[in-house]
Parts: sequence; C-alpha cells; structure tokens
Amino acid sequence: MTYSDELKRRFQAAIMGNYGLPPVAIREGEGRRVTDVDGNAYLDMIGGIAVSSLGHSHPALVEAVSTQAARLAHTSNLYLHEKEIELAEKLLELSRVEGKVFFCNSGTEANEAALKLALLAGKQAGRSKIVAAENGFHGRSLGALSITGKAAIREPFEPLGREVEFVTYGDADALKAAVDDDCAAVFLEPVQGEAGVVPAPPGYLAAARRYTAEAGAALVIDEVQSGFGRTGAWFAHHAAGIAPDVITVAKGLGGGLPIGAVIAAGPHADALTPGTHGSTFGGNPIACAASLAVIDTIEREHLLDQVLDLGEHLDSRLADIPRVAEVRGTALWRGIALTEPIAADVCAALASRGVLANPVRPDTIRIAPPLTITRNELDECCDELAAALDEVEPTPGGRP
Ligand SMILES: *Cc1c(COP(=O)(O)O)cnc(C)c1O
Repeated sequence: MTYSDELKRRFQAAIMGNYGLPPVAIREGEGRRVTDVDGNAYLDMIGGIAVSSLGHSHPALVEAVSTQAARLAHTSNLYLHEKEIELAEKLLELSRVEGKVFFCNSGTEANEAALKLALLAGKQAGRSKIVAAENGFHGRSLGALSITGKAAIREPFEPLGREVEFVTYGDADALKAAVDDDCAAVFLEPVQGEAGVVPAPPGYLAAARRYTAEAGAALVIDEVQSGFGRTGAWFAHHAAGIAPDVITVAKGLGGGLPIGAVIAAGPHADALTPGTHGSTFGGNPIACAASLAVIDTIEREHLLDQVLDLGEHLDSRLADIPRVAEVRGTALWRGIALTEPIAADVCAALASRGVLANPVRPDTIRIAPPLTITRNELDECCDELAAALDEVEPTPGGRP
C-alpha cells in the first residue's frame, strides 16, 4: 500500500469489504502510465483487467466520449439512437456473424442475457441443462454465477436453482458425454482468464462446436476477456476456426467505458422476443461512441498486427527470466506461472518498482496491458519482473 493512512481509513469506512484493500490509489493516467495520489508513476501492465485497450486518456477515446456527452448522454431503450446501430453492425462484421446484437453494461450482464436467451431457446426444444467448465468464470450475478466453475465463489450462494453440469476444461470426451438430449447450451471461454490465462487445448473448441451442433444445443463463447485484440485477433475463437451460436463481449470493447454485448447468430438472434429482457443503460450513446472509437483506432493503427509482433518479443524476453516456470496465453494476454506460489509478493515488489500486474493465482501473474504498448515498455516490464523475482525470498519449503 502506497497511499496515506487517512485515505485507507476513509476507504475502509465507506466502501464495502468485498475487494480488500487496493495496493495503489490511482489518480490519473496517460498512455500506458498511471500516476498515484502521491505522484508516483506506474507502467500499467494489467489495463484495468484487460479493459483499457487504448491505454489511458487516448485522444480518440477522449474526443468520442466528450463529443457524445455534449450531444446526448442517454436515451434508454424507449428510443433509438444511431450509434447503437452503427456499433451493432460493426460487431456483426468483426465477428463474422449473421445475426443480431443485444447491448448491456458488463460481461456479467452479457452472460446473463445469453443464459436467458439459451434457456428460452432450449425450452422450446424441451431442453434445460447448461454445460459449463470447471474453473470457468462468467460473472457474479446469480445467473452468471450458476454457470461459473469456480466453486469457492459459487458455493456460498447455492442452491442457484438451475441445472448446470460442470466438465473439466479441455477434456473433449467429458464434454461429449455431457452434451446430451437435455443440453440447451454449452458456455465456454476460448481461454480461461480468471483461471490464470489457460488456453483451450488444440481441437477442443472445434470438438465443442461439433458436439453441440450434433446434439442441437447452443454453443456460447464467452469472449468478455479474450475479445477485441487481446490475442491479436478480434475474437480468440477465430483462431480455432469455429462459428459459435452466441458470443458475449465486454471489457476491452469499451476501452474503459462500461459496455457489454451479446452477438447471436441465425435463429438465436431472434430468441429474445418482446418483453423477455431489457436494460435501461444498455446501448448507452457514450459507451457506444467509446466502443466505436476503440474499434476504429485498432483498425486505423493496425494494432492487431502490432499485438502479435509484441507478443513474440514478450515470449523471447519472458523465456530468459529465472523462476518463471511456464508462460501461458498469447500476444498481450499472459499467465506467467512461477516455480513457487509467490505471485502476490512478486506483484507487490513490482508495484514498488513502478509496474502494475495482477496475481491471478497464488503461482501466476497475469498481464493484459493496453494494446498500444511499445516494445520498450515491454522490455521495462520484463526487466522489472526479473528484478522483482530476484528480490522476493523463496517460500519455506516451496522451492525445489
Ligand atoms: C470479467 C469477466 C466476466 C465478467 O465481466 P464483468 O464486466 O466483470 O461483469 C465474464 N466472463 C469473463 C470471461 C470475464 O473475464
């Protein structure tokens, strides 16, 4: 913790205790740097959990948000505004989906809507079971939580009143057995983010597509964390060559503004009929303007190609760092597994050295920096990581 005891006291007195005490109090940001309340600068290697795709205060985002705020901030869904149509058309183009879009405000809400959509479609076909993966994460509202495979965050709220079967992520045979006549939908992340950036093994997503198509169940791919350039593609599942029935997105789409969306193909595009779902803020003009600016900037600055090049550079640098056991993920989204469960200590050492990263698991550091990051900044991150790892003591008995 770098900020004053007074700020800590006020945080603890006014903010609910579900997050614990944050290590840094951020005041402002520019590019890939944020500055704390005491004026210390940090290289932002986590980007607000894969959200700040253009970094901080990007001129295109500032311009789009300010212009839209000055013109029209909100309509509700009682009225149409053109930006939501423009963004929906763009999402359909980038996702290569022939279908329709529903807008909401977060990843959780996108999965909540996808779940309602899948349950309605399933009901018509006499199917009710949802299949999801162990260690998967789809959100914390009661519907999204019911399909979240992290038992520790789900079990305190059970029973959740839904028939969900969890299967081992990556085991195609287990998935095949679970996708039966009663299965309405399968929810999968193409890379499990909150589990520590764990990619699906080769062939797994294609197998999921095959089994769901054969059984007549919907395949829902959760691209909330993996989408919008993180892996060097607009959508991570494009690398597997599959066409899902439903895709959920959020995080990096808005570049820091809250937005989520469900992209549904074919008959699934019409599963939400009048009155079945809604959102007061969904498709908010400012959030849509921000998302259009994010997409436009990624296209105009050829960031997807750049992200892939930077990813290769990152691979070569991380490979040389002692105490790094394995590097998972691709491009600018990595789980750096350490030889010991010291990720929290290493991230604390990194923060005091001016780099923000996230201990997503006791033994894994997650990085998901802005897509606009430079090679020099990645070098800086790797140098500081090596130094931080050098600084942190081995855990007693933890080191082989
Ligand atoms: C973060 C995340 C969510 C939840 O998104 P929120 O915007 O926090 O509601 C859902 N699915 C995945 C894969 C995520 O990474």
